[in-house]
Amino acid sequence: MSRGPVLGKTAWPDLFPVTKNSCGYGRAAIDLCRRHALAIFYGAVVVLMVLVYHGARHQAALFLDGEEQGTVETFSRTVEELLKEKGIELHPRDRVTPHRQTVLGRYNRIDIERAFEVTVVDGNRLVFVYTPAVSVQELLAGEGFELGPYDRVEPADLKEVYDGAVIKVIRVQKQYACSRSEVPCEVRIEKNPLLDRGLSRIKNEGKAGLQEDLVEITKENGAEVSRKVIGTALLKKPLAKTVEHGTNTTLRRENRVMEFEKVFLATATAYCPGTPGSGCPLDKKGRSFCTGSYNNGYTATGKKAVQGQGTLASPRIVAVDPRLIPLGSLLYIEPVPGIGKIGFAKAEDVGGAIKGQRIDLLFDKHRDVSKFGVRRGVKIYLLKGS
Ligand SMILES: [Zn+2]
Repeated sequence: MSRGPVLGKTAWPDLFPVTKNSCGYGRAAIDLCRRHALAIFYGAVVVLMVLVYHGARHQAALFLDGEEQGTVETFSRTVEELLKEKGIELHPRDRVTPHRQTVLGRYNRIDIERAFEVTVVDGNRLVFVYTPAVSVQELLAGEGFELGPYDRVEPADLKEVYDGAVIKVIRVQKQYACSRSEVPCEVRIEKNPLLDRGLSRIKNEGKAGLQEDLVEITKENGAEVSRKVIGTALLKKPLAKTVEHGTNTTLRRENRVMEFEKVFLATATAYCPGTPGSGCPLDKKGRSFCTGSYNNGYTATGKKAVQGQGTLASPRIVAVDPRLIPLGSLLYIEPVPGIGKIGFAKAEDVGGAIKGQRIDLLFDKHRDVSKFGVRRGVKIYLLKGS
């Protein structure tokens, strides 16, 4: 081994300059001193390299969708470089925590959350979004779905999106319109003792009012779903209608004062007995066309079918609906225009077509029946105690 270079002219940096004055040793002692210094220097370099090596080596625990995949070692500088080095392919929408550009530390935890497809139905538009798990709110905001003040998201209780989720954005619009309508008038009832009980009369027609409504129209995805009145202004007050209800139950007719049960306006028709002398047309067998073979000349109650005089002693005979007028009841029938007085009558008969407020009045003569025809609004009193 050759001697070391002359002090001060070494190829290595003269890190430990030794002078006789400061060292205070002889030449051999100085060489020894220099060898120690070099050993220390090389040792330091090795230590430094080891340190650099260890400093450049990183460990990373990898998690995929929350599940640990193992720990890897790397000399990559950033998260992205590490993932590339390990052949982990990422979709641009996959979420990596910490961020891809993060410089690795000694020990690292890297979380990868894979993105999946979510369908957003925005009004009548279909949009497919690729995303890792986020809240519905975040997803919509992040993808530029701006929500109006009345817009609604369905399902309403869904907090976080999931693979295959369908999220509906219901676009809600409110419009306002004015509409005018009639205000029906109030109906007041007054008692009138001069009017028969069961009858009523309009004393005052009244008048409908006018109002204006402010209507809120709600549309969802362009289709109207509701219409609601949110304000009303009365433009014209309605005038009340007055109706009189009769309370009178006393009937004065034929010099008599009678109490009646009820009064009603009926549709009246007439019928003939079909008996010989009535003038009813007869068929070949001599039977009346009006009554057919059923006629026996007697009523349903067994009375002889004769017209009567319309007096209390000889009342007229009428067919009634027994559910409305019990058979045997005494009636007073007001005069019929063009026919004249009817007067007292007894409910003695029934008829297939005589239902409800209808009566059939018996006449002796076929020609009187033809003349009578059909009369509406015939006033009939059902007398009390009959
Ligand atoms: Zn007849």
